[in-house]
Amino acid sequence: MPFAIETWQSRYRIAIIGGGPAGSACALALARLGVSDVVMIEAGDYQRFRIGESIPPESRRLFHALGIEREFLEQGHAPCYGSCSYWGSEARGYNDSLMNPLGHGWHLDRCRFDRFLASQAHARGVQVHIGATLTHSTPKANGFTLDIQHATPQGRRMLRIHADQVVDASGTRAVFARQRGSLKQGSHPLICLAALLGLRETAPPSSLSHLEAVEQGWWYGAFLPDARLLLALYSNAASIKAGQLWKSEQWRTLLAATRHIAALADQAAPLTGRIASFPAPSYCLDHVGGRGWLAIGDAASAYDPIASQGICKALANGLLAAEVLQAQSGLERYAQAVHAAYQDYLALRRHWYGLEQRWPHASFWKKFHERIAG
Ligand SMILES: Cc1cc2nc3c(=O)[nH]c(=O)nc-3n(C[C@H](O)[C@H](O)[C@H](O)COP(=O)(O)OP(=O)(O)OC[C@H]3O[C@@H](n4cnc5c(N)ncnc54)[C@H](O)[C@@H]3O)c2cc1C
Repeated sequence: MPFAIETWQSRYRIAIIGGGPAGSACALALARLGVSDVVMIEAGDYQRFRIGESIPPESRRLFHALGIEREFLEQGHAPCYGSCSYWGSEARGYNDSLMNPLGHGWHLDRCRFDRFLASQAHARGVQVHIGATLTHSTPKANGFTLDIQHATPQGRRMLRIHADQVVDASGTRAVFARQRGSLKQGSHPLICLAALLGLRETAPPSSLSHLEAVEQGWWYGAFLPDARLLLALYSNAASIKAGQLWKSEQWRTLLAATRHIAALADQAAPLTGRIASFPAPSYCLDHVGGRGWLAIGDAASAYDPIASQGICKALANGLLAAEVLQAQSGLERYAQAVHAAYQDYLALRRHWYGLEQRWPHASFWKKFHERIAG
């Protein structure tokens, strides 16, 4: 659904910065709580490829809580029945959802998913402006003034609005929270080098997520809706630089040397385009909120993609934040929940990476084990 260009008001009760899963979930939850006068601004236009596509069966509960379960199921994203991994040894491991009472998870067309969530919020009365970027914010006695650059077919313009409360849902940029002085704690630099390939056949050959640890990091492969295969190498800056892995030839050579992931690529047309690079940091903000504002989703805390929890966390944060905003109290409880979940995630990450000990002297694994041990 396209977003018609609406007239801006000069004042809103709540402004949400960023229209990813967290921002849209918060907007939807506010609408369900009967909170009106909400604006969501999104810098992009939901047309370009977005990464982060694997969601677990538990997402269904969150869609239900947001009142969009049926609408989500109608979207026809690809089912995902679990993962198949080669991690810690040459033995194949499975983690499947066959016995899960909630059913299967999904491999999303992420761009379509984000657009869908925003359009659901819009349909429930939230004003949504795409191509609108927060550039500056100033605290006032009763809220904030927000300076916004809005790109429309007629050109760019700057405007200023007032919001009584602000939600930072701007992803890892955490643009508003950082303007308030919040700092990222424990940032861990992981880099994803990904390629999207067209399939030779229209039927996807596997409905699992595929993982394989290698000396330089780990590979991920998933078949996405519309007959596409996503292949990604997760590594660190030192290993990428040493092997020039951002170059498609080197990336392909490393892929060909994998024992298992390379077989997925056989189902797809050869790689012709460039390798795209995405930072995938892990951190938590020291302050996830303050007077009149809070941060949600990746703006508040970002997890290693190996956890496949980022989207669920974004939706859950959006739901909880809406309650805090409506009640205008409970920020402390919200901050505790974010920080406790981050500690749980760190324990999981320690366990998961600790299982792989085959290359103790390789730069990627050595650095990882040193950092996560602490
Ligand atoms: C390589 C990679 C792979 C991943 N794989 C998975 C996965 O398989 N499963 C999973 O669950 N999670 C995965 N994640 C994590 C997941 O993508 C994030 O946790 C999730 O997108 C967080 O949602 P969000 O709404 O908080 O942030 P985002 O999705 O980043 O959305 C933030 C939005 O804010 C907008 N924005 C930014 N700055 C401004 C501004 N100044 N003004 C207005 N708008 C602004 C952006 O355009 C964007 O739309 C992955 C992440 C990476 C990097």
